[in-house]
Amino acid sequence: MSSSYSIATIPGDGIGKEVIPAGREVMEALAAASGGALHFTFEDFGWGGDWYRAHGEMMPADGLEALRGKDAILFGSAGDPHIPDHITLWGLRLKICQGFDQYANVRPTRILPGIDGPLKRCAPGQLDWVIVRENSEGEYAGVGGRVHQGHPIEAATDVSMMTRAGVERIMRFAFNLARSRPRKLLTVVTKSNAQRHAMVMWDEIALQISKEFPDVAWDKELVDACTARMVNRPASLDTIVATNLHADILSDLAAALAGSLGIAPTGNIDPERRYPSMFEPIHGSAFDIMGKGLANPVGTFWSVVMLLEHLGEAEAARQVMEAVEHVTANPSLHTRDLGGSATTEQVTRAVCEHIAGTRQRLAA
Ligand code: ATP
Repeated sequence: MSSSYSIATIPGDGIGKEVIPAGREVMEALAAASGGALHFTFEDFGWGGDWYRAHGEMMPADGLEALRGKDAILFGSAGDPHIPDHITLWGLRLKICQGFDQYANVRPTRILPGIDGPLKRCAPGQLDWVIVRENSEGEYAGVGGRVHQGHPIEAATDVSMMTRAGVERIMRFAFNLARSRPRKLLTVVTKSNAQRHAMVMWDEIALQISKEFPDVAWDKELVDACTARMVNRPASLDTIVATNLHADILSDLAAALAGSLGIAPTGNIDPERRYPSMFEPIHGSAFDIMGKGLANPVGTFWSVVMLLEHLGEAEAARQVMEAVEHVTANPSLHTRDLGGSATTEQVTRAVCEHIAGTRQRLAA
């Protein structure tokens, strides 16, 4: 039986233009190695900073329509030194996340074989987390305003907006994800000691939803204490759920503790599958290394693994992850961010060759 998927690729800006073609190459190698069982058709969208310079917008007004029928989206990064960050972010990535109600942002973190993380006391396997970030409201709801600009009485607000429906659905998603993992353990991150309205509701809803999951052990942690716990007691954490802002910060810490920003993947997921979900490395456009072949493509490859898992292709996902771990285990295939000198192309070739070899190994 053969499965065919239609994938949108959006390289965006900076090193996104290098790592997304690399991700596509890996998916093509996977399809070739599947002997016809897997087939991908790609459509590439050249949206981002260059598109903005030519058209005055980061993506076309009807861009979501072009993506709607796809099975998944592989996204690079949005960011441009000559365009304000709020335009690059809200005009492309957030437009897709919000337009397709991708309310669950999922970020797995592990220290991959061969990677030297900064936590010297952490044995491999002790750091194995998935952070679930509320991706549709909270601190980044876009609610607020600014008046009397430039005058001494100038005032500005950013209001964190939490809705019962929004919190219930992300809690339910996080408890379900925790249940699917061997340890069945969820930590709910909060700040209800200082923020006494929305975060108190957040806590109450966590307790309410926990009753639906009697088999999942859970605890609560203040966000500031959580940073210390991630460093001092990494093995005490497994699945973590946090608000949009809290998880944004915690997941950068997680990526750094796992060895490099260049490795970490993420998925912006619509759990109800009404729309395509979007997968991307968590790093940005990194203009400092753009065009030099130095970008680490592993974050994109791991994003491809998440994409395949989302499509239900568990075996294909396992094959790509195995190839990635085989490659990270070899220091001569580390890019500069990991202390090596390998190029994007060399790492990509090695992953593709390992995938091609899987089939030969199975046939032998
Ligand atoms: P943006 O402004 O688009 O969010 P950025 O340019 O600030 O992104 P980040 O992605 O946040 O860059 O990364 C910070 C630094 O980490 C980069 O400047 C780069 O040197 C390094 N880095 C990030 N991703 C990678 C990668 N995939 N491979 C190698 N180095 C990377």
